[in-house]
Amino acid sequence: MHDETSPEAFLEELRSALGERSVKTGEDISDDYSHDEALTAGWQRPFAVAIPSTTEQVSAIARIASRHGVPIVPRGSGTGLSGGAVPRPDSLLVSFEAMDEIIEIDEANHVAVVQPGVTLAVLDQALAEVGFVYPVFPGELGSSLGGNVATNAGGMRAVKYGVTRHQVLGLEFVLAGGEIMRSGGKYVKSSSGYDLVQLIIGSEGTLALVTEVTIRIYPRPGFSATMLVPFASLPAISNAVPELLGTGVTPLVLEYMDAVGLSAMSARVGFELGVSDAIKNAAKAYLFVILEENSQSSLDAETETFSELLLELGALDVFLLNEASAAKLLEAREGAFWVSKALGANDLVDVVVPRAEIPAYLERVNSIAADSESFISAAGHVGDGNIHFSIFQPDETKRYEVIREMLDFGLALGGSISAEHGIGSEKRKYLLELEDADKLELMRRIKAAFDPQGILNPGKVI
Ligand SMILES: Cc1cc2nc3c(=O)[nH]c(=O)nc-3n(C[C@H](O)[C@H](O)[C@H](O)COP(=O)(O)OP(=O)(O)OC[C@H]3O[C@@H](n4cnc5c(N)ncnc54)[C@H](O)[C@@H]3O)c2cc1C
Repeated sequence: MHDETSPEAFLEELRSALGERSVKTGEDISDDYSHDEALTAGWQRPFAVAIPSTTEQVSAIARIASRHGVPIVPRGSGTGLSGGAVPRPDSLLVSFEAMDEIIEIDEANHVAVVQPGVTLAVLDQALAEVGFVYPVFPGELGSSLGGNVATNAGGMRAVKYGVTRHQVLGLEFVLAGGEIMRSGGKYVKSSSGYDLVQLIIGSEGTLALVTEVTIRIYPRPGFSATMLVPFASLPAISNAVPELLGTGVTPLVLEYMDAVGLSAMSARVGFELGVSDAIKNAAKAYLFVILEENSQSSLDAETETFSELLLELGALDVFLLNEASAAKLLEAREGAFWVSKALGANDLVDVVVPRAEIPAYLERVNSIAADSESFISAAGHVGDGNIHFSIFQPDETKRYEVIREMLDFGLALGGSISAEHGIGSEKRKYLLELEDADKLELMRRIKAAFDPQGILNPGKVI
């Protein structure tokens, strides 16, 4: 006989609630469950893995875990970049992979209701079949909607559609004690007390387990134009951005890539830029613009306006790509992370500053890189003020100083430590050191109200 709170008793209760095959231990736990994609987080095997199929099972897991005081680490697809889904040796990893049903596509209300394990790729295909789109597109389409909600995922289309928190209308979630709750729904307005949906979005599994997501969907526009635009200087790009957005046409994508980064990204997917050597040599950085419209005539008009304006704003040229090249360029940009990883980047910084501060920010980053003898490459969502930096600095102490200085300066400019990758375990030390102490204390009190025992994703965020 084992005692009531032994690991064996815990597993026995879990198995009787979920069934033998939905609880994995020992050699049955695949290595996939030991990590996410953060460059710096080590791999760690959990004590056990639970794979629930229903909200009731998630609730049972939380009840059992809280009774036994076992930490729970939620996991979507494990594509996160901040160590948020990395388990601890004493934790139960709850994988949402089997909760992968698209419950409803409600065309009348422009809403879809999905389980958290549905991936963006699967959702996009289902919506395309009925002429709709869910517009939040982080670079990794294998990521899950539950993970997107928990990290408040952004991506390239945020300049037009905002991030996950702007598209989620309702959630069903399970608290640490097993209580099942719903907040929000198929409506766009509510002034009915504190907004729990918005509190849970971006909470990285530390407040609740997300079991159902209600999102906005949009009619899928049929016409798009993709431009690759070389510039001779970074300030020229930064100055161009507000002018472009000031036309009243919001591009679907407005991305910045430095010349070194773009050539590495293109080489990875075999994309020939089709740019003359003269321009290639003169170009320091590129804008990548996608316009999207419901009719060819309005798209043509917008493309012309943008092309003329870009040339006036100092672009070396404007390359309008055909469909195949446009798809390749998008693939190249989406693969930026894999290029950085393959080249040996030691860490990523995902800072956001007010858009107009980008030139000042980039100038400071250049001087931090020079002073610390680090190589720092940049690409990112320039339309949102969010640049992703790959930091190449093998010395851990120096790297810490470099990142701390970058984040500190971002905050000083009115920005924020992470725009979309989240804090997880890997940016936690910077959050705790650099954020306002009173704000951190309030966050701790919110965490305690949701999860008094502290069993939901301990050691993450706060
Ligand atoms: C190549 C590449 C490109 C990327 N590009 C972008 C980008 O452009 N923009 C962007 O925002 N991100 C990007 N990411 C990061 C990543 O895809 C997102 O963070 C994504 O939202 C993670 O989803 P996931 O399902 O993989 O979550 P996981 O990695 O499994 O988990 C992420 C966090 O969510 C929590 N969590 C997961 N499911 C639940 C749930 N059901 N309930 C409660 N908590 C949960 C986990 O505990 C963890 O804290 C990129 C990643 C890669 C590898």
